[in-house]
Amino acid sequence: MGIGIACMSGKGGVGKTTTTINLAAALAERGRLVLTVDCDPQSNLTSGLGLNPYELRSSLGDVLIGRATAGQAIVATEWANLHLLPATPDLTATEAELPSGLHRETLLRDALDRDGTSAAYDFILYDTPPNFGFHTVNALAATNYVLIPLQMSGFAVRGLKEVLRAVNLARSRLNPELQVLGMVPTFVNLRTNFSQQLLSGLADLAGLRIFQTLIPPTVKLQETSLAGVPIVAYAPASKAAAAYRQLAEEVLQVV
Ligand code: ADP
Ligand code: MG
Repeated sequence: MGIGIACMSGKGGVGKTTTTINLAAALAERGRLVLTVDCDPQSNLTSGLGLNPYELRSSLGDVLIGRATAGQAIVATEWANLHLLPATPDLTATEAELPSGLHRETLLRDALDRDGTSAAYDFILYDTPPNFGFHTVNALAATNYVLIPLQMSGFAVRGLKEVLRAVNLARSRLNPELQVLGMVPTFVNLRTNFSQQLLSGLADLAGLRIFQTLIPPTVKLQETSLAGVPIVAYAPASKAAAAYRQLAEEVLQVV
């Protein structure tokens, strides 16, 4: 079975999508076969991997509603070993289109299991919207691990409790094996005392891994979102590419 990792934070703009894309691309570069799943109606993962959400044959919404199998909706990206189950803005309407009844929260997991998609990949990375609604819950039911990008600001750290509460709820109701893989500090400027204090404070949080890799703030990562190209392809020799390669290395050591 593919190892599932869901990037989650409950907040927007903290680097969830950027981390999903670039961790996935770095794992793919290491020869792992990686599926990324865009669970956010904003479709930033889809556009960030160079696909136009308006030109897709089918997407995650079709899979959840039963109009397509996961295998039918998955597309190969331009990069070797890196595939995508894309989203479109229509994903906002999916929940309302579903008949009421059981199993709404495991629709994604069931769809990936049913046609052998889960078994076909080494890793499945889920990008989630900045809330704890339907699509995030579906990702939590499907994944093995949760990876929390933590933007280095006081507010982001406050949001952490809500993430952990959502994870605990999903574990007790939907997915007993669910684990927090760890936190990745993003937008880290170690020259500021603030970042340093925040990081040492985080290290005291019991039981949660903080990855050694610190993702620096860099305009290169902003450029990649617009270009629709992962950093390891866009600027292979950049600090940001090195950071995401190092994160992939750390992840491979602990999963
Ligand atoms: P989220 O998915 O949590 O909303 P994104 O990954 O989309 O966050 O990042 C929000 C914005 O910040 C995007 O424009 C992205 O290009 C940019 N960004 C992400 N990580 C960094 C970084 N380390 N340095 C600079 N810009 C970044
Ligand atoms: Mg996002």
